[in-house]
Amino acid sequence: MITRMSTLFLRTLREDPADAEVPSHKLLVRAGYVRRIAPGIYSWLPLGLRVLRRVEEVVRQEMDAIGAQEIHFPALLPKEPYEASNRWTEYGPNLFRIKDRKNADLLLGPTHEELFTLTVKGEYSSYKDYPVMLYQIQTKYRDEERPRAGILRGREFVMKDSYSFDIDDEGLSQSYQRHRDAYIKLFDRVGLRYVIVAATSGAMGGSASEEFLAESPTGEDTFVRSTDSGFAANVEAVVTPAPAAESIEDKPVAEVHHTPSTPTIDSLVDFLNANTDRKFTAADTLKNVLVKTRQPGAKEWELLAVGLPGDREVDMKRLEASVEPAEVSLLEEPDFAANPFLVKGYIGPKALQDNGVRYLVDPRVVEGTAWVTGADQADHHVLDLVCGRDFTPDGTIEAAEVREGDPSPDGQGTLVTARGIEIGHIFQLGRKYADAFGLDALGQDGKPKRITMGSYGVGVSRLVAAIAEQTHDDMGLAWPREIAPADVHVVIAGKDETVRARAEEMAAELDAAGVQVILDDRTVSPGVKFADAELVGIPSILVVGKGLANGVVEIRDRISGERNEVAADDAVAALVDVVRG
Ligand code: ATP
Ligand code: MG
Repeated sequence: MITRMSTLFLRTLREDPADAEVPSHKLLVRAGYVRRIAPGIYSWLPLGLRVLRRVEEVVRQEMDAIGAQEIHFPALLPKEPYEASNRWTEYGPNLFRIKDRKNADLLLGPTHEELFTLTVKGEYSSYKDYPVMLYQIQTKYRDEERPRAGILRGREFVMKDSYSFDIDDEGLSQSYQRHRDAYIKLFDRVGLRYVIVAATSGAMGGSASEEFLAESPTGEDTFVRSTDSGFAANVEAVVTPAPAAESIEDKPVAEVHHTPSTPTIDSLVDFLNANTDRKFTAADTLKNVLVKTRQPGAKEWELLAVGLPGDREVDMKRLEASVEPAEVSLLEEPDFAANPFLVKGYIGPKALQDNGVRYLVDPRVVEGTAWVTGADQADHHVLDLVCGRDFTPDGTIEAAEVREGDPSPDGQGTLVTARGIEIGHIFQLGRKYADAFGLDALGQDGKPKRITMGSYGVGVSRLVAAIAEQTHDDMGLAWPREIAPADVHVVIAGKDETVRARAEEMAAELDAAGVQVILDDRTVSPGVKFADAELVGIPSILVVGKGLANGVVEIRDRISGERNEVAADDAVAALVDVVRG
């Protein structure tokens, strides 16, 4: 079927929409792919829907290829399963909650672990039934605090979510690996540049949860990569390489100094450099940052002191990830008042340890290192306080900011920061949901065995925008062939009847060869047609115009920008070759 621009439900815009900040949003609106209905809620017009469907198809094929089976759940769900898992409350304001006419609570599904678990429980009972992998490609709802960038972060969006169900951990890790491989294939097929990062450093070495991030300056996720190796990680997951321990013997004895008005690291370093014959930098100081943590379900907050080199700030996200599932908060004035041994600006390890405050240090604070740190009285610091001699921390913590130039944890190269768009997430859930719903299989030994699960998401609609972010140029969209809304955009560039007739003929030949064609048969100027062709972003553009008098037409490659004059008689065959790759 040939898509004719004269009748296609498409009106391109010359101006960027006022609310758009990122290129994919601007271009998808201008090229008539999507239209905004409300914040974070978009409709898909014909060209946009084609791309979305093609992306879905790639995802579906790769899921099917690993033996996952497609099913489909409603988006409108009863509250009860989400109460059983506690997510009715845990999900907080992101959950769309509604009431039906009988005043029963319902929700719009943000993700479907509960339903998949219940469904498997309903159908399967024996260990022989397992393993099983199920997936759906479905509309999800999340009342995002900040819907942004068009379809990149919507409140209604399309996700592929799959779930694996296994008898044991070994099975789970295989299902996880299968998904990981499938994701690599599908993201490669849609032509994205991406990295796989460990989502958290976690007790399980990071393999239990990984995110796929499409590299893009407009992404909301920051990650670091090594200059010299394939290492990439979420900032939260970076494990600081610890330097070797130093010898304690050759260190001078610790000495308290009067350091008037030096509550900040800068003022302290300036004072020391002016008043001693040694040279100090902020990295020689040990800064002790006080926070409080609270375990889930607990009422009481506990003090936690984080010791880190004075040239680094605490990164709250890294700290949060390190103390998870406990919550963490900075100390407030009443906390200081209640703990008078905390002398602001002069807190040292001694008072912390004397008063039973848990004291965790940055991994760079290794045995034998000497520090300038607070002496627990106003206007005083202690010099040459040696770790392992003068104080012994309760352990280490990943809480310090990660900086460009830091050594890569894999020992190769240094770290640089980059930004990415989360396009997929694979996660070993374990038994959380199986426990909540009592999902067991009768084992070979006749005893029930608790099932272990994985959950795996791909942001299908987000992928459309992520691909646009990576492939667009100044003139418009430029789709990779695998997911483009058509293969060839034929532009009739002239009023001459022979030009029109020949273009129609070539479009028909392409169509007959199985090539998807958009034919610009409108009566507008060639300039308008060219601009629209560039904007719409079909990978090949065939221009039939003046050259036809000399038997030539032009083939443009939208992605490389390359333009070639070819004999009109050869053009169809040449394009069929390009399309078939
Ligand atoms: P994010 O950190 O971007 O909010 P998430 O961690 O909440 O995402 P998951 O629950 O892991 O997302 O969902 C699986 C996938 O669904 C994500 O990797 C992402 O690609 C996509 N996704 C999540 N939220 C949205 C959204 N609001 N709009 C579009 N796609 C989304
Ligand atoms: Mg995620």
